[in-house]
Formats: sequence, structure tokens, C-alpha cells
Amino acid sequence: MKKIAFITYGCKLNYSEFSTIKRNLLNVGYKIVGFDYSSHIYIINTCSITHNADNKLLGLIKTIKTNNKKAKIILLGCYPQSLYNKIYIKKIYADDTISSYSSFLKQVYLVLGNNEKFKLHLFLTNQIHQKISVSDRTKYTKYNSSVSFDYTRTRSFIKIQDGCDYKCSYCTIPNLRGNSISENIFNIILTIKKLVLLNIKEVVLTGINIGDFRNYGIENKTYDLFYLIKILEKKLTTNIRLRISSIEPNLLTYKIINFISKSKLFVPHFHIPLQSGSKEILKKMSRRYNPNIYIQKVNTILNILPYACIGTDVIVGFPGETESNFLETFNLLKKINISYIHVFKYSDRDNTYSNSMKNKINPNICIQRSKIIILLSKKKRKIFYLKNKIQIYRVLFEKKNHRYGEIFGFTENYIRVIVRVQLNIPFPNNILNTCKLVRLLKIDSKHNYSSILL
Ligand code: SF4
Repeated sequence: MKKIAFITYGCKLNYSEFSTIKRNLLNVGYKIVGFDYSSHIYIINTCSITHNADNKLLGLIKTIKTNNKKAKIILLGCYPQSLYNKIYIKKIYADDTISSYSSFLKQVYLVLGNNEKFKLHLFLTNQIHQKISVSDRTKYTKYNSSVSFDYTRTRSFIKIQDGCDYKCSYCTIPNLRGNSISENIFNIILTIKKLVLLNIKEVVLTGINIGDFRNYGIENKTYDLFYLIKILEKKLTTNIRLRISSIEPNLLTYKIINFISKSKLFVPHFHIPLQSGSKEILKKMSRRYNPNIYIQKVNTILNILPYACIGTDVIVGFPGETESNFLETFNLLKKINISYIHVFKYSDRDNTYSNSMKNKINPNICIQRSKIIILLSKKKRKIFYLKNKIQIYRVLFEKKNHRYGEIFGFTENYIRVIVRVQLNIPFPNNILNTCKLVRLLKIDSKHNYSSILL
């Protein structure tokens, strides 16, 4: 039996898509081994790139080839897509672009873009013969359904939407994944029902811009994310919990917030990217909201769901971000009761408008600003955790560590909980993949909430 090893980078969507690709490979007789093991084929499912991705990838390819000369290497996804876009769509024939492309081509067996990666099993079973297959994603209209699940795990990620029609000035995703396109509502319901039968206990609705979810019915009636949420609540039983992944602040409507606040299935956890607290910078980023709208959304959630977990993303060092612009971001974040912040240092991406902007920020300043936000995030998480002390929550347990007598899980509002049993006492029976009530007691040094089972 032929062995394949894989490594996948990037967002939850990339993982969920690769899960589908992997299942197709298993169905045609491949055996999956760890990336560190000897394998016939190594698949690298790439992410949408940082400026030093070329070197990292080349390094990885070199390591594989050094350890195993005969190994076939396959590159999938956003990285081949970005090189293709540069050369064939934007017609940038710069030496470094061409040399990156040819360096990869010399060493790899197969290169598939974001449209073609779903047919990997057909390439490997010789039903399609091509060494490179990458096409213009922006002209692609077919939806590739994806869902990740694993029999040993409790959580699954279902792709409900892909691509993006927004044109945020720093973002390369629309070039790599094309226009916004959504999964069919009935497929989503059917897939989640199947996941319930497979004993999956939590499903995360993922996508690139899930707030833009749109299905068209008869007479062009549009079914949006709010409709999807309502119908899922109606059609599914309560033995599954649902989480929505990152959603743009302008698309997280008050109707959705209200509905989730009363939902039996959707958990009180929102991830709402802010990116900047400065009106001026948000405008330069071509974001579709201003700081006041953001604050209103967060306050609305917390008024009706005071224990909701609200996470955010921030980019520091966007071109032209002055000290005072940065302080606006810092002060906004300080003022609102969010639970954690993911901070990203701005870096130029191919084919983006911000790439050509003037007043790029010195990388050392970006590092300093990033450190300040990381520190603030730690404080925010601590405040959020302390607010939840002594509260009783339903925890979905997903992992145990026999050696230390520990069981881990997450509350509905995304607090990582740890329950310790005495080492000579066995774990309560069948606790993994079940929801149990716990009381949160004490935060440990690794940001787990030590808790007791009730
Ligand atoms: S950052 Fe903007 S353009 Fe990029 S995926 Fe998100 S909404 Fe779309």
C-alpha cells in the first residue's frame, strides 16, 4: 500500500479542506503516515504566504529530499496559486518570481492550485496526467464542499462559505480563493446530521467571510447567514453544539446576536476582527465599519450575553499608522470588554493595494506595538477568566492525560478547563466526548481553568 505523509498550514478552512482531500486519498487506497516518517509521497498543503514563504518551503522540500531522495513532493493550495496569479494573471515576470516558480517545479512531482487540489486523488490514480494544474480562481464558480472530522475528536469544522467579495487593501485572499461562494443550505444540514451520527459533539461553521453567506432560492430569494442559523436551530437536535468562526463586524447583525443569545445550539462565542481602532486606518484598509460600529456590536453582545467570549484580530504597523493611530487602537481595546486579541504585524502581500502604499512602518516599531497588544491581550484574558470564577458551565471534554490524571475540555464560552483526578483514582467512565457540568475554580499558569466536576 502506498504511503502518503502530509503537512497543512494556515487557517481552519485549509485544515477542513485538506480533511476532505485526505478522505478521498484513503478511499483510493493510500495509507497516511506522519510527516516525520518515511513515505512515498509528501503533500504540503500551503497557506496564503508571508514574504519569506519561499525560503521556508524550499527548506522543507530540501529536508524531505535529503532524507528520502525518491520521495514525490506535492504542493497544494494558496502558494502555487499566488505564484500562478503573479505570473499568468498579473503578468509579473520578475526574475525572483520566475526563479521561485522554477525552483519548485524542478523539485516537486505535482503542483495543484486551489481549484484543482480537490482532484488530487484523480491525479494520483493517473486519471488526470499533468504536472502543474493551477487555474484562475477568480473565474471559478464551483463550490467544493469540505468538512474535517476525526473519529478520535469531538469537534468538526464545516466549510459553509469560501472566497470573498470584499477588497480589504492588505488582503490577498480574494486573489487566491476567488469571489464569495456558499455551500448549499441543505448540504450543510445533511452534513451536520451525519456528523451527529458519527458522535461529533461540536461543529464550527467556517469560511473566509461567513457573514457573507448567501444561497439563492426560487425567484432569486436570498437565504443569508441569519436564515442558515435559524434553520439549523430548527432542524438539529440539542446533542450538538454549534460555533460560528470569525465574522466581520458589519455582517454580524443585531438579529444574529439576538438569535444566538436565545439559541439552544449556538454557543456564546464571537470572533470579530477589529484590525484597527483608528477610523483613518480602517478607511485605508478599506474595512466596512468604523470604530463606533465595532464598539456598539461588542456592547450589544455583552448586554444580552454578559459571559460571552469575544475575541478579535488586530494588525499593527499598517502603512501610515502613526503613534496616535496606534494609541486609538490600544485605547479602544482597553475600553471594551473583549476576551482575547490575536495580533498580526503588517507585512506586504503580493497583489494587494497596501503593498504600494507609502509610509511603511519600521519593523522594530511593529514589533514594539505587537508586544504592547500581546500584553493587553493577556490582561484581557485574565479579566475575562476572573469574571467567570465560580460559574458553572457545561464542558465538552476532548482530551485526557493519564500520566498526570488530567482531563481537558472547553466551555461554551471557550474557556479551557482542566479537571484533575487523584492519580490512583481512575477517570470517570467515558468522560471523553461528553458534556459535563463543572464549576470553575482557579486559573493555572498555562491559562487552564482548574475546575471540579459536579
Ligand atoms: S480581510 Fe477583507 S478581503 Fe480579506 S478575507 Fe477578510 S473580509 Fe475578505
